[in-house]
Amino acid sequence: MNSSVDLFQQAEYSDAAKKAFARKPQLFINNEWVDPVSHDTIDVEDPSTRKVVSHIADANQEDVNRAVAAARQAFDDGRWSGMPPLERENIIRKLADLIEANADELAELEAIDVGKPVTFARHVDLPATINMFRYTAGWATRLAGEQIAPAGLPNGAFHAYTRREPVGVAALITPWNYPLIMIANKVAPAITAGCTVVLKPAEQTSLTALRFAELCVEAGFPPGVINVVTGNGHTAGDMLVKHPGVDKVGFTGSTEVGKIIHNNVTNSLKHVTLELGGKSPAIVFPDVNVEEVAPAAAGAIFFNSGQTCVAGSRLYVHSSIFDSVMEGLTQTAEFWAPCASLQPSGHNGALVSKEQHDRVLGYIEDGKKQGASVLMGGNCPSDNGYFVSPTVLVDVNHNMRVVQEEIFGPVVVAHRFDDIDEVVGYANNSRFGLAASVWSKDLKTMHDMAAKLKAGTIWGNCHTVIDPAMPFGGYKESGIGREQGRYGVESFTELKSVVIQL
Ligand code: ADP
Repeated sequence: MNSSVDLFQQAEYSDAAKKAFARKPQLFINNEWVDPVSHDTIDVEDPSTRKVVSHIADANQEDVNRAVAAARQAFDDGRWSGMPPLERENIIRKLADLIEANADELAELEAIDVGKPVTFARHVDLPATINMFRYTAGWATRLAGEQIAPAGLPNGAFHAYTRREPVGVAALITPWNYPLIMIANKVAPAITAGCTVVLKPAEQTSLTALRFAELCVEAGFPPGVINVVTGNGHTAGDMLVKHPGVDKVGFTGSTEVGKIIHNNVTNSLKHVTLELGGKSPAIVFPDVNVEEVAPAAAGAIFFNSGQTCVAGSRLYVHSSIFDSVMEGLTQTAEFWAPCASLQPSGHNGALVSKEQHDRVLGYIEDGKKQGASVLMGGNCPSDNGYFVSPTVLVDVNHNMRVVQEEIFGPVVVAHRFDDIDEVVGYANNSRFGLAASVWSKDLKTMHDMAAKLKAGTIWGNCHTVIDPAMPFGGYKESGIGREQGRYGVESFTELKSVVIQL
């Protein structure tokens, strides 16, 4: 990094970003920008500067009703689900092309809004978003029922088959850590299946969702297929979840809010997919190359300032190499040091909000009070924004809050272990079960661990490798259902049995 530049100083915003900030707080309903009935707005803050740069609408019940009515009408009259699948696929692909054509602008907005480094937004978030739309679009022409030979009926007397039908109107509620990727993970399968949607992005980070809405019109979606309503979670989000015009809720966010949503959808028996929190272990066996694994373990937690549901936030290292892995971790402190989001050389940014900043620092203090030692970081390197240095806590035990709870910040707790059963016990001693990584050259160890760990995704010699074709979701309190791949699209369908007597 260039030492003459103050890396905590935010760079100048582009004209495109300033235009996005100047947008009137409106909602996107029926392919039009409409003034909300609610006069309330929410501040949009740049976490790198702590300054308010824009305002978005805070939708109320009437606004939510209007958006759901638009999606309902667009679903019920078949303007989208009745379209030939190949035409739907082409429109979704056009949307992916438009996101790609506007990737620089979207990456800048994402970086400013979340606090994440613009280079990572451009080279990680944007390609992942585009790939998700492109991959998922292909399922539009491949979703099908099947002919089934009835088991208890006379042969040839009945024709029986299944149909896959879109479930209806989907309410999609997304978090702030990877705003565009989360939009893609939910909107792409929903519209591919033939559903219409009301998207409510996180109130902290709605800027790219609003720009995304403009691209949807350009791509040629009929009115009402994709609607975007901004607003607070406990109000607008809650109203959407409870709305009788909604058939399915897709949610990514905290386990606490996931439980509230689960209770609400249970009352109305809506379909639901919940992708929730995690406290994912990264487990390092003694046969690895420490020089490779230590930086990889650092990346597993520090990427996106640890604000990743699958972050490798519990690190278990075999006692024989614990000290050398810790030394390797501390050598990454400079690489993962935070800076303002538009600094092109940055690898890490600010945390998304004051709330998140206070929460992460609170956990570090709590860990120290309970006896943990800070091997690295633990501090705020600048007051310009919500910065926290990459932090390693050692001398931890399994009852500490820093070990059991999701911190959602750049904080890893590191433990020693001596044998495989011991570490499986530690790793599974969690209310979460989203992901885990295993680091070893031994195939037997790898497959044994893959079978024994209770988590929705197991990585071997890598971490946070997410592919659009692979199902993604959690065990235990990490969620319900799976996103991505064929399963993700099918989760936006109903399966109908047809039995016709001949
Ligand atoms: P985080 O803790 O990561 O900020 P949340 O789980 O609070 O995440 O929020 C994730 C998403 O859920 C956001 O879009 C937020 O507005 C929304 N949300 C929060 N509370 C509710 C709720 N009670 N009902 C529906 N959506 C909610």
